[in-house]
Amino acid sequence: MSNREVAVFDIGGTHFRSAVWTNGQLGPVTRRCAINYLNTAHDSPVELQEALAAYLVAETNRLQLECKTVIKHAGISLGAPVNASNGRVLQSGPLWGPRSGSFELQGALTRLRPDIGWMIANDVTAGLASYIRTCDPERHSRILFVTVSTGIGSRLYDFARGGVPVDPVHGLQGEIGHIKVEAFFRGTRLKFTCDCGGCDHLNAYSSGRGVLKLLRELSPHYPDDLAASTMAAARDGDDDAILSAFSRGVAAGDVLALEVLATITRPLALIFSVLLTHDPLLDAIVLTGGVVDALEPAYSASLDRQFRDHGLFQVTECDPSYLARRLRIVAPGDLSGLIGAGHLAEMAQGGQSIHVFR
Ligand SMILES: [Zn+2]
Repeated sequence: MSNREVAVFDIGGTHFRSAVWTNGQLGPVTRRCAINYLNTAHDSPVELQEALAAYLVAETNRLQLECKTVIKHAGISLGAPVNASNGRVLQSGPLWGPRSGSFELQGALTRLRPDIGWMIANDVTAGLASYIRTCDPERHSRILFVTVSTGIGSRLYDFARGGVPVDPVHGLQGEIGHIKVEAFFRGTRLKFTCDCGGCDHLNAYSSGRGVLKLLRELSPHYPDDLAASTMAAARDGDDDAILSAFSRGVAAGDVLALEVLATITRPLALIFSVLLTHDPLLDAIVLTGGVVDALEPAYSASLDRQFRDHGLFQVTECDPSYLARRLRIVAPGDLSGLIGAGHLAEMAQGGQSIHVFR
């Protein structure tokens, strides 16, 4: 019996995915609805948290029967901030609602199945772990991996250290979605709230949820501009219809759609200018996630324009392609969370971690 089989999971707010990972290969993927606060009756978030742990154990047992071997390791990619030093999930709005509190997932899983090595990582870290395999370490110093989807997160990978540096106390890095920013539409300051409850967080403006909020503001506040726009027909539609009309408007060069795009790319461009000011060894910024995917190539063009407008002191005047040279666009693969979880669990099997604490 090889025991090379690893149970891998991609735990998102909408779907849970699972598979067996064997020697770098992903087996057939099973997908089910997430157990979340909207679709599951519960008296407190604790019940949902325990239900997640119970699902992970039951599904590992099922995968074990399916592949007819004893599974000793599991890798979990989780769409929530995770303390990398102890596997504590710090919160998850999409899974457990706005006031969920933290959850000792690692401890809960170890109590239920102490014979399994449970590796838990944030989904951005798992996506980075999947991407980094394609990079030539000789050609990079540091890479920033950024996901712009329902929420926004980033991870910096340091090739010199061979990992993702995290805060030694709090176990975090790259939660840029919760940085306070200022966002303006036609000179008017917007005041939106993040899913975490925080005011003016980057997520509130530049994520998929953020852009939808801004698009919904157009009808009451700018009815004439919206009527003249290619997005007019979708004004009373559902979320998907509004977002699709926005994507098509951006692709067609619709003036209003491009103004909305500039509003959502500017706060992120300003964060990149701060990061690049402090870290001149940052040689690639990888952009992925549903928002980027739906809006390319206009998304990176808008981001670059906002970055040049803001400027990097004594750099962009003489080197206007400074950011554009660093941008890499990666399509968000459905399987990257599972593949990343597989790589991270394999590292854990070998006594290694992608996280570096010093
Ligand atoms: Zn937030």
